[in-house]
Amino acid sequence: MMTKREIARHLSEIAFYLRLKDANPHKSVAYERAARALLLSPHEPHELFEHDILTDIPGIGPGTAAVIGELLRTGHSSLYQRVKGSYPASLVEVGQVPGLRPKQIRRLYEEAGIRSVADLQVACRNKQLQTLKGIGPRIQAKIEAALGEFRRGQGYRLYASVLQEAVTLEQNLAALRGVTRVTMAGAMRRKMEVINALTFVVTLSEDQEATGFLKALKTIPNITDAVCRHTRQVTAISPTGLPLAITLARQPDHDFHLLQATGSIEHLEQLRRRFAIKTRLPTWKEIYTHVKGFSEEAIYHAAELPFVPAILREGRGEFDLSATDMHRLIDPSQIKGFFHLHTDYSDGSGTLQEMVVAARDRGYRYLGISDHSQSAFYANGMKEPTIRQQWLEIEAVQAKYPEIHIFKGIEADILPDGTMDYPDELLSQFDFVIASVHSRFNLSEADQTRRVCRALSNPYVTMLGHPTGRLLLSRPGYRLNMAQVIETAKEYGKVLEINGSRHRLDLDWRYIRSAKPQGLKFSLNPDAHAVDELDNVALAVNVAQKGGLVAEDVVNTQSLPAMKAFLQNTTSSSA
Ligand SMILES: [Zn+2]
Ligand SMILES: [Zn+2]
Repeated sequence: MMTKREIARHLSEIAFYLRLKDANPHKSVAYERAARALLLSPHEPHELFEHDILTDIPGIGPGTAAVIGELLRTGHSSLYQRVKGSYPASLVEVGQVPGLRPKQIRRLYEEAGIRSVADLQVACRNKQLQTLKGIGPRIQAKIEAALGEFRRGQGYRLYASVLQEAVTLEQNLAALRGVTRVTMAGAMRRKMEVINALTFVVTLSEDQEATGFLKALKTIPNITDAVCRHTRQVTAISPTGLPLAITLARQPDHDFHLLQATGSIEHLEQLRRRFAIKTRLPTWKEIYTHVKGFSEEAIYHAAELPFVPAILREGRGEFDLSATDMHRLIDPSQIKGFFHLHTDYSDGSGTLQEMVVAARDRGYRYLGISDHSQSAFYANGMKEPTIRQQWLEIEAVQAKYPEIHIFKGIEADILPDGTMDYPDELLSQFDFVIASVHSRFNLSEADQTRRVCRALSNPYVTMLGHPTGRLLLSRPGYRLNMAQVIETAKEYGKVLEINGSRHRLDLDWRYIRSAKPQGLKFSLNPDAHAVDELDNVALAVNVAQKGGLVAEDVVNTQSLPAMKAFLQNTTSSSA
């Protein structure tokens, strides 16, 4: 019988072929969602099918349930056969290259005979795509860049896409017989932006051995390939196909193993060197005998270091951070409001009122509306009359919800020459302006830097949106001299955005660590295009923590009166 993972793969391939055939996009999304729901469900599809309750899984409807049923009964799906038609199976792989639209994939296949990623690589190398109608040199260059990201990103997934599975697994492990304590470790615990494995430290009771644990582990549905590497290490494959590494510990050693399983290689090496200097213990084996039974905190103290929170343990300057700051990293509860969200005036799905109510219900005191500007035609950017209309609606909605303040803003495109997408006269009438690059990503570093710095010198610009422009696992950032951008932002008193979209997490925390000591201020924004994306604020907080920020570094921790004064100052002092 087909396994859960095979069924999910069939569902997402149906989704792919539907997109390729230009079918109703909702149908394709439904199959994608069903595949994901199935993988994350704790239940076995054949059991649900036997009881006719497949549709009890949220995300699986009658249509997708029928396909699952057919796959379970016959091992085939007639829909799959129909939508796949004569397309080669290897085309699915081409669909995983970021940024390639279904229409382009079809054209590449039909007109250039490209059936796989390998074909695509060869065609790019031979500059074969440039002459293809609808592709041309610009798209060829884009495809080449995307292929690079594809290779680098293989095996990686976005943090936010993995979180739910990791939390569920932690609970499943904790419920196993003979397990007394479980802690998530590795890159997940450090809240890295992309993840390629799940790591846990599991403490066993006295009467449980590794072999017994292995047996218990296999009872978690859809864990596969579980093996005991040695008495303290078990590996397996998670239900959605991620490598799983589990360190087994005994009661007093949990924290020592947790420390080892959490920090990056660089962090651990820096810590070991510190031990070598302070305690003359050169190896981890010797350090272990010294700190046996210690808590994580006590282990750092033994090296005469302040405790370093897990999220900072990257080996990128965290030992130089102030101990006081490390112990009061910014917390989600300190965020009083935020900027950067889109409504259905541009490319958002929620109405103005829906977004305002959702922000109020989450307890925020203010929010800043920032739809796209006129040049962003692909995102339904607003012309001036639409802006005036939106302002009227903001006033009406504000009157209905006095408990949350609405700031009138815009996410204005930075044009290729660094001027803004509206005249200053109009920009000056907004409460705030986010300046963002949305076009001409391929400028040289010098030109791109000049462009962004010129925008930062505009007196009406409040903050720089998604400063590096990267899309995680699909597009590298623009070529930009970030040191110069940071310096210019400081010179003109501009704020840097930390964009919490799961695909962006931009400004990259690595740059935050270098911008903070220069006194730069940050704004933690959701870049929400739908009501539930307001929760992206939490992802932005993770990034800020990784950057070592505290409340005073972040403008939107301010109370409403302070925030109003801040925005007034930034515009009037520069006007
Ligand atoms: Zn944007
Ligand atoms: Zn945006």
